[in-house]
This record gives sequence, C-alpha cells and structure tokens, in this order.
Amino acid sequence: MSLPSFKLFRPHSIEDAVRYLSIHAGEIKIVAGGTDLLPSMKQRLFTPKYVLDIRGIEELQSIRVIPGHALEIGALVTLTAIEDSELIRRRYPVLREAAMTVASPILRNMGTIGGNICLDTRCLWYNQSLTWRKSCGFCIKKDGDLCHVAPGGKKCWAAFSADSPAALLCLEAELEIAGPTGFRRMPLADFYTNVGDAHLKIQKNEILTRVLLPERTAGYSGVYQKLRMRGSIDYPLAGVAAIMKKSSAHGVVEDARVAITAVNPAPLLVKEAVHALIGKPVNEISAAAVGELAARLAKPLTTSLLTPEYRREIIRVYAKRAVLAAARA
Ligand SMILES: Cc1cc2nc3c(=O)[nH]c(=O)nc-3n(C[C@H](O)[C@H](O)[C@H](O)COP(=O)(O)OP(=O)(O)OC[C@H]3O[C@@H](n4cnc5c(N)ncnc54)[C@H](O)[C@@H]3O)c2cc1C
Repeated sequence: MSLPSFKLFRPHSIEDAVRYLSIHAGEIKIVAGGTDLLPSMKQRLFTPKYVLDIRGIEELQSIRVIPGHALEIGALVTLTAIEDSELIRRRYPVLREAAMTVASPILRNMGTIGGNICLDTRCLWYNQSLTWRKSCGFCIKKDGDLCHVAPGGKKCWAAFSADSPAALLCLEAELEIAGPTGFRRMPLADFYTNVGDAHLKIQKNEILTRVLLPERTAGYSGVYQKLRMRGSIDYPLAGVAAIMKKSSAHGVVEDARVAITAVNPAPLLVKEAVHALIGKPVNEISAAAVGELAARLAKPLTTSLLTPEYRREIIRVYAKRAVLAAARA
C-alpha cells in the first residue's frame, strides 16, 4: 500500500506550526514519529492535502525540571527517551513501565509521547484497507453511517488504544496546547471525549506542545499491566496503570490512583479506587474491590478479535494484580 500524495511542511518553531495549521485547518495532519499516522494514511483512513512534520521543532524534544511542576516533557520526546530517562525511572516509574510496553523498540525510537497521547482510536472495522472497509459498507467513524459493533447506535465505540495515557492519568498530568491565541493548559483527564470518532478536545489549528507532571505524584510506586495479541509488538486490548504512596510508619495506603485504557473510547481514571484503598493496608480483598470497580468502568465492545467479556475480565484481574504489585514495589 502506498501513501496518498500530499504537500509536506517542516516548521522549526511552534509559531510556524500553528500558522500552517491555521491556514490549512481541516486539510492538514500533524506527523510526529509517524508510526501510527503513516500506516493509517496508507489505509486511506486519512488523505490530508498537507502534512505538517513537526520533528524540526527543537524546543519540544526535551525532558526538563521546571519551577511549579516536577517535570516537563516535550511532545516530541520519544518513548525510548522516556524509557532511558533516569529522572522518570526514579520519580515516575509507572510512566516508564507503560512507555516500555508500546509497540517494539524500533517503533519506540520513532514514536513520541505527543503522538501516543493523540493516538487515533482503533476498531476491527476501521483499521483496515479501503477495499476491506468498502466491502463492509464502511462505518460510522469513516465514510459510512452504521456501526458494526453496536448496530443501530449513533455513537462510535472505537477504543482508545495507547498505553502511556493510563499512566499519565494516574500521575495527574497536565497538557500544554498551542494555538493561534497562545498557549492553554488542561488536565489530561479532560482531554478525551469518550466518543470514538471525535475523541480529542484539541482544535484543528492547535498542537500539543508539552506534558507537565506534578510534584505531588513524584516518587509514588507504580505498575502497568497490559493485554495484547502479540507480546512483542502490539497495541493494548486492555491496560491498567496503578500508582500508590504508602505510609512508612503503618504500611497503610496514603494515596493511590488506578486508570484503565483500551476498553473504552477514552482512557479513564477509576475514581472510586482511591476510596477503596486509602487508609487501609493493601490485601487480596481491597485489591479485588478495585478490580471490580475497574471492570465496571470498562465497556469493551467487539472492536477487536478478543471478546468483550474476556477483555472486561482481564481488566478486573489486571487491576487487582496492579494494586497488589504497586503495594509491593
Ligand atoms: C505495529 C504497531 C504496534 C503498535 N503498538 C502500540 C502499542 O502497543 N501501544 C501504543 O500505545 N501504541 C502502539 N502503536 C502506535 C504508535 O507507535 C505509538 O502510539 C506512538 O507513540 C505514536 O507516536 P508517533 O509520534 O509515531 O505518532 P504519529 O503517528 O506521528 O501521530 C499519531 C497521531 O497523533 C497526532 N499527533 C502527533 N503529535 C501531535 C502533537 N504534538 N499535537 C497534536 N497532534 C499530534 C497525529 O496527527 C496523529 O493523528 C503501534 C504502532 C504500530 C505500527
């Protein structure tokens, strides 16, 4: 499969990138590592007239400590750089663990944290060639008006299938977004709509520039558990991140967060998990209670070759395991 033709722009500053996005809004796609966008363009899921290659914007390529926040990660930092960062390993281990499970080493060398956060949603009926999709009458997410996974429904249930956002949700990450009127910030928790065919709250003339991690969650232990078809390379079909801070004196949980990914059109924080854990020691019962809460939040449909029942059950099991493992870490 070949790429459709397009005109390429290569800005070297955020201002220039935003200018191109504003002039060509609706006809232009941002490419960072290209590990997801380019295969999707080959499948004619996107046929933009213009492509904006942002890799020349140097100021988005670093990880640094900044006043007011513990850490700032540029949108172009690769997943390999996250894996290699001593600072992230020490202070935000859950992010490193999630990033390390993305795709394969070669894809992580190219793939960026910004691309991972802005990843398109995925579905068995969508991530296919043009011929395949045409033979099924297309779908609500692209070129059609019916949903094969929830027939009769109007909502697109394509699953958000990136790993690092579950970890970033636990860490209470904030995003910095640049647009024609300057920069704005929003919590990552507000960035996703939970609707598969319009899943991000970012405008066509905006670009994700940085991820900010707070001091508050630095040093928490963390674990990421993931289900995928091919152990060495695949997108998640269910993912759970858990972070925890325990009181050194009594061994009870002082603070904790659990988030799930790949089973809804958005990564989601299991909000009640904190109440199930705080002030208590972690044991089989409290961990199982979190597993139950996570499974209740998960709404997988037949967007993959695995059954929804199996993926929901895996969320239950992995959430329990993640909580027990985070308590031991
Ligand atoms: C075989 C294979 C396996 C994979 N397995 C996994 C996996 O296990 N887990 C996983 O999470 N991902 C997986 N991926 C997807 C992908 O490799 C990663 O998600 C990667 O982090 C995407 O980053 P990128 O820079 O390559 O994004 P790109 O492909 O460049 O972009 C992805 C999307 O984000 C948008 N975008 C990129 N940067 C920005 C920005 N700064 N601002 C606004 N929009 C932006 C693009 O327009 C595009 O829509 C896999 C891909 C392949 C081909």
